[in-house]
Amino acid sequence: MRKLAQNNSIEEDELLRFLNNQHKIKNVIFFNDLKDYIILQPDWLVKCFRCLVNDHQKRTDAISFNACQTLKTTGELSETLIDRLFQKEPTLQFGNRKRHLLRVMEKFDIIVQPLFRDTDNDICQKSHLYYLPCMIKKSLQFNDIKKMFIKENVKVTITPWLVFEFKFLPLAFFNHILFYYVRNYTVCKAETGYPALYLGKAVFYVDRENLSNFIICFSQNAISLQVWNWRDVDEDINKQMLSELCNQIEHIRGTLGQNLSYNIKAKCSLGDFSKRDGRISLTEITNTKHEVYFCEEHQQKHSNEDIEKTWLKHDVRAFNFISNVWYGNISDRYNTKHTGFVDGIKAGDDIMADKGSRLITGK
Ligand SMILES: [Zn+2]
Repeated sequence: MRKLAQNNSIEEDELLRFLNNQHKIKNVIFFNDLKDYIILQPDWLVKCFRCLVNDHQKRTDAISFNACQTLKTTGELSETLIDRLFQKEPTLQFGNRKRHLLRVMEKFDIIVQPLFRDTDNDICQKSHLYYLPCMIKKSLQFNDIKKMFIKENVKVTITPWLVFEFKFLPLAFFNHILFYYVRNYTVCKAETGYPALYLGKAVFYVDRENLSNFIICFSQNAISLQVWNWRDVDEDINKQMLSELCNQIEHIRGTLGQNLSYNIKAKCSLGDFSKRDGRISLTEITNTKHEVYFCEEHQQKHSNEDIEKTWLKHDVRAFNFISNVWYGNISDRYNTKHTGFVDGIKAGDDIMADKGSRLITGK
């Protein structure tokens, strides 16, 4: 392609712009950081994806059967299994382009190489194997997972649930969120030595200190997150968890062009994340004059305090305008006029301001 461009006096940056544009409109598959290959027929790639995710039952030989069972239990996709699955379409020769195809599949959030921490020697390393989280069929109840990580008689602080409740949430959307966490956090290993990746649930270390974990769960039209702390609660962690999940949802909504609407809610720490009953929106807590709310799941009142201090105070949506930082010698009048704040006000809006701020009129 480069030679072709040179022969026609096309500069490399122009060629890259062309390829990126063709990728955008789905004519070819091209990534700037994987320049060695350009996939001219997206259909060919779709068939390759299909080899990995479809009809594993038909593999009858013992090696493939065992590897398929491991895939369904842990999500682990062995090299042997990849080779065998690619052979399902021998004429398409996926095996010859295996390394590139695997990297492309990483780009499309189909496979991932997670970070694991070995509990024996506390060494954290990237798995040499690929994982296919969307193939994990192993399902475990939340309480069983919790029991594996939270031992009785050990002091632990469990945050209220943070719940993103959607009008409609496809599992594929959750999988993109899950990929983000698998790429950026270390996956915990369960007692069995397997990674704590289950159907619609995963447990991660918050940081290297190993004293906070978080679990992220998918349920009907909701993504829920809870943090388990074995040390003093670090508010920055809660803040990070909330803003990170908000940002990722927004990012994925943008890249997929899916305008999924959602409401941010919370639920008491002992509640069932998958039940709608008992979820309370952060806006409701903000607007209430009471110090308690009624939890429909437990049919009792809970204090707002836990939700307020864990999630609500970090809910950035409470601010819809944050100006750039200005020097102290800038007047309030100048600041208000030049930050863009005035542009966001509509006629009839009520504004509370410090005394002497008579500058809004005559916008
Ligand atoms: Zn409750």
